[in-house]
Amino acid sequence: MKYISTRGGCEPKSFEDVILTGLAPDGGLFVPEELPHFSKDEIASWAGLSYEELALKIMTPFVDGAIPQDDLKQLIDTSYATFRHGAIAPLIQTGHNEWILELFHGPTLAFKDFALQFLGNLLDYTLEKRNQKVVIMGATSGDTGSAAIEGCRQCKNVDMFILHPHKRVSDVQRRQMTTVMADNIHNLALEGNFDDCQNMVKDSFADQSFLPDGRQLVAVNSINWARIMAQIVYYFWASLSLGGPERKVSFSVPTGNFGDIFAGYLAHKMGLPIEQLVIATNQNDILHRCISENDHSTRPLEQSLAPSMDIMISSNFERLLFDLYSRDGNAIAGLMKDAKAGHMNLSDTALVEARKLFSSYRCDDQGMLKIISDVNRDCDYLLDPHTAIGLEAARQCRRNLETPMVTLATAHPAKFPDAVKKAGYPHDPELPPHMADLFEREERFTVLANDKEAVHQFMADHIPT
Ligand SMILES: *Cc1c(COP(=O)(O)O)cnc(C)c1O
Repeated sequence: MKYISTRGGCEPKSFEDVILTGLAPDGGLFVPEELPHFSKDEIASWAGLSYEELALKIMTPFVDGAIPQDDLKQLIDTSYATFRHGAIAPLIQTGHNEWILELFHGPTLAFKDFALQFLGNLLDYTLEKRNQKVVIMGATSGDTGSAAIEGCRQCKNVDMFILHPHKRVSDVQRRQMTTVMADNIHNLALEGNFDDCQNMVKDSFADQSFLPDGRQLVAVNSINWARIMAQIVYYFWASLSLGGPERKVSFSVPTGNFGDIFAGYLAHKMGLPIEQLVIATNQNDILHRCISENDHSTRPLEQSLAPSMDIMISSNFERLLFDLYSRDGNAIAGLMKDAKAGHMNLSDTALVEARKLFSSYRCDDQGMLKIISDVNRDCDYLLDPHTAIGLEAARQCRRNLETPMVTLATAHPAKFPDAVKKAGYPHDPELPPHMADLFEREERFTVLANDKEAVHQFMADHIPT
């Protein structure tokens, strides 16, 4: 299978090439030239498979010969062996036809482990085969950094530099990154905010001449296709557990960069009967405004209690727009230019098409705290702030009470003790046993000025040649 850019300005690329880079050279994102499609009978025949077996069925057509079946199976098995729940992604019922899909049983307690455990293994396998080494560079405001570090700490062919804004990430989030003592992992605390970190990474991808010969930068945020691919699996998994594909299922997804919910859209296009996909946003509600009133205009970013959803321009939205605009790369290039300048207007056709499947809802901090408290009272179940927003959106947007509605639980509540206590929970939610000593572990990170020369010099000095 070949992959093309959403802006139509470059040659089709192989699976391997696509996972070993960042954006396409024309600034777009890579998508498969053609999506695989599964019949209802085929999907039905997967009932009863383990999570890993199901993942193998769904990923195989995307990888398309780049990796022999036995090796792909091994990569998948290794990736999910680190999860601490027998079901990998268990479903919990919180009401009539209302379910929570717990995606936080991986090493760093957020759904990002689903993709990044796999991506780490996939990169090392591919690099070993090609006899190549790469440099991963990424910016994080929280969950991505730790999940990426856990995914790549054992990679022999990867050196990794993760930038976080100095003194602006939570203690749990920072310690999850800085207590990993692997020689190939480097945490840089930049004296600046998250945008400064992200700009530093963007500029570095644009001019990689500071790297030693033969090295290239690889992105591990959700522009990397392999991350999206791995996330498609749990939509099939949840559906098969709830009577699919005979029965339709709906999903509500706490949304930031639009990666997670885009995987749900792909599952739908690949043949999984999904009735409704709910885009749940916090007060940074640009996607909700866009879907509900065609208002995709940027506003100053507000800090919320659900920080992983504090995003202005969601990069993966471009992948959806590409389909909504009949895969017209020029149209997408134009739209993205508008979006960057502050305002993008969707065509009526695109909006009508999007609204057939997608609904959206905005839930601010106050609403979120109320849901955490309500659900804790009614179900004796503690939600994290992101999941709480998802559940509220699910309840508000449901079109059909007979269709199971699944909210994706994107993080464990122990990652966000302050929000949970604000909702009335009497003490810090307990960290799972494997992280209980997090606050006693030794930390290692380097504070650097928000200065490109300084960052590049540090990286060049710490990449073994
Ligand atoms: C990353 C993250 C999100 C947002 O996911 P996207 O794929 O960026 O939409 C939501 N919740 C949590 C806890 C996250 O870590």
